[in-house]
Amino acid sequence: MKIYHDKDADLKVFDGKIVAVLGYGSQGRAQALCFHDSGIDVVVGVRKNGKSWKNAKEDGLKVAEIPDAVRQADVVMMLLPDEVQPEVYKELVEPNLKEGAALEFAHGFAITYKLIVPPSGVDVIMMAPKGPGDMERIIFTEGFGVPALICVYQDVTGNAKNIALGLAKGLGSTRAGVFESTFANETFTDLFGEQSVLCGGQTELIKRGFETLVEAGYPPEMAYFEVLHETKLIVDLINKGGFDLMWNVVSNTAEYGGMTRRERVVTQQSKDAMVQILKEIEDGTFKTQWRAEYENGLTELKRMEEEERKLQLEVVGKEIRKLFERKARAGRLMAWPRRST
Ligand code: NAD
Ligand code: MG
Repeated sequence: MKIYHDKDADLKVFDGKIVAVLGYGSQGRAQALCFHDSGIDVVVGVRKNGKSWKNAKEDGLKVAEIPDAVRQADVVMMLLPDEVQPEVYKELVEPNLKEGAALEFAHGFAITYKLIVPPSGVDVIMMAPKGPGDMERIIFTEGFGVPALICVYQDVTGNAKNIALGLAKGLGSTRAGVFESTFANETFTDLFGEQSVLCGGQTELIKRGFETLVEAGYPPEMAYFEVLHETKLIVDLINKGGFDLMWNVVSNTAEYGGMTRRERVVTQQSKDAMVQILKEIEDGTFKTQWRAEYENGLTELKRMEEEERKLQLEVVGKEIRKLFERKARAGRLMAWPRRST
């Protein structure tokens, strides 16, 4: 994969141009603030007098309703939740989109599954930062950036890639490194990662480990520390130096025990399930199921969230984490809006 750096990107692509950031949540807020600090003319497009409207104003940014923001914009950034993008696009974005503008995404879902079909006269690009919004903002203010992925789906102006690279630069990402991929590859690998390993696989692994210890009569607090709290320490090591560093840092006993037991925990059956999960992502089965759930008012998702909150692991964890709370260092961490499901 080719990796782009600062010298490959130029913020001059935004001279005399307006970038509309639609949505002011995790990504919208972080990206709009970083672009503004990078000298890009940013307008935030949100619902009039909503919470995001107020937040963006307080942060000192220009704010407009979505149709107004889109009408002025040379780059329109769809930083709304993936599930609401199709209807907001149809009603508020498409009728106001300038000919030759660039339509930008931070995830390929809507385009890959054709929930949004842009007109032929606009560029369609992606700049997907590899991190949650708050981390992007913190790392940017420290003078660096998180790595990012760029993709071009439709290039009408001949400038689509330069705009995507410019956005990555505006976020500081070219200081770290920017990879190029395609909308489909980004969508499929992103969904697979979150479903099978990061969000799905990991929570189930922790949950089962906790249950095993508690059912065997060990105190829930101890179970919490051993299977949840310490996950971060291990993941940080793997993130920093791969398996190699982690195995070197943990005890020889942990290394021997881990290597000889792991395949009994995550089995060939788990791998077969992963293969199937990937298929369902690629053939649209997951997309169809998720769209139906959204259109049904997210009732199943809300039910599962309710169940999850009742887990003993979650109840115990809440109490234990209070013991570890430190006051956020002033000015470093900002108050971030909670996600809205
Ligand atoms: P979010 O849920 O944090 O923020 C959504 C914003 O959209 C909020 O300002 C909300 O008020 C607004 N909004 C919600 N419904 C709306 C509606 N019907 N009309 C108008 N505005 C509405 O979203 P996010 O997590 O920042 O995700 C935005 C995009 O970035 C998605 O495509 C996502 O896949 C992608 N992405 C997110 C992350 C992440 O870590 N959160 C990382 C990479 C990419
Ligand atoms: Mg991802």
